[in-house]
Amino acid sequence: MAQLTVDIEKLARNIRFLVRSCKAAGLDMMGILKGPGPDSAIIRTMRENGIETFGFSSIPRTGPHDETLPQKPVFISLPSIHEIPRMVRHFGTSLNSEISVIQRINEVLVAENRSHNIILMVDTGDLREGVLPENVVDTVRKIHDIRDRRLGFSGIGTNLGCCAGMVPDEENVLILQDLALEIETRLGIAVETVSVGGSVFLEWLKSHGLPDRINQIRLGEAIFLGNIPAFCRKHEHLHDDVLIFKGDVLETQEKNVGPCPHSGVDALGFSPVAAFKGKRKRAILNFGISDTYPLGLRPLDGGVFIVCVNSNYTVIDYTDSQRSLKPGDFVEFKMNYISMLQAFMSPFTDIVYHY
Ligand SMILES: *Cc1c(COP(=O)(O)O)cnc(C)c1O
Repeated sequence: MAQLTVDIEKLARNIRFLVRSCKAAGLDMMGILKGPGPDSAIIRTMRENGIETFGFSSIPRTGPHDETLPQKPVFISLPSIHEIPRMVRHFGTSLNSEISVIQRINEVLVAENRSHNIILMVDTGDLREGVLPENVVDTVRKIHDIRDRRLGFSGIGTNLGCCAGMVPDEENVLILQDLALEIETRLGIAVETVSVGGSVFLEWLKSHGLPDRINQIRLGEAIFLGNIPAFCRKHEHLHDDVLIFKGDVLETQEKNVGPCPHSGVDALGFSPVAAFKGKRKRAILNFGISDTYPLGLRPLDGGVFIVCVNSNYTVIDYTDSQRSLKPGDFVEFKMNYISMLQAFMSPFTDIVYHY
């Protein structure tokens, strides 16, 4: 089994830095667990270092149960209208944008005698989820007019840097603030939570504040990878090696490499790229796309290159490395976002915590 190793001390330091800087900006930080899911060791580390609100983007088959969770978490994906009973059973709050779904949530709450809050998502330019700013006040009015209303309206939220690549700027950070004020003055309805996400906001927060009505930030990727998505760079105050992927060597050979005279596509349907020619040192590692996303891995050893990826193997060229590899040796990698998600989700990858 390949290993996804989690350095709990570095994770704790990333969390403490983020909680502290968000607090200084007037923001409560929600920890988003898209990759890890309900992982007790990670949730415990988050709680010990100042995170009290947790968000999940999917409902695991067994539910996001974890006794380390302080309260019902937040469902940060738009719920499917078919899954509302399951969603409200497990989650205390959800992010929503469709009035028909919101009405259905209320029907389920009435029928099952439950409580649940919603945050109305607003599209402030990233072109993913959310009602358009000009329709927000009207939608909030409709939510409040729902007959027999049991669901609570917590506030509004937005997401940037996920679809159109929109990053925070002077204009879009003001939209939520203005809408919160408008809902309160025109409808007399309190807007408690004004929520932004995700990690792309960290670049903005280095040199700017956010309008004072924005009081929550949802962060996932930066906690684990120490980077700022959309800008694709490491955050200078965060560790980018909390997660290290470790494969072990199954075979080493010196091979005569070069373009095949009659070549087809590889096991995954891609055309092979002959990056090197002549005698090269090759090793086969014990993982492939069923264990992580190998093409998103970066070897810690600068002399190692990934040359080929299959479902269960990754082949590396280590001719330029100082190391001489043999079966059983480990090769370590930093991970990108896709590799992280796939490794956490794969049943074939062992998650190992270093304390
Ligand atoms: C994924 C996601 C986040 C967290 O984004 P990161 O870039 O991982 O920090 C926040 N909010 C929503 C709605 C998301 O889908």
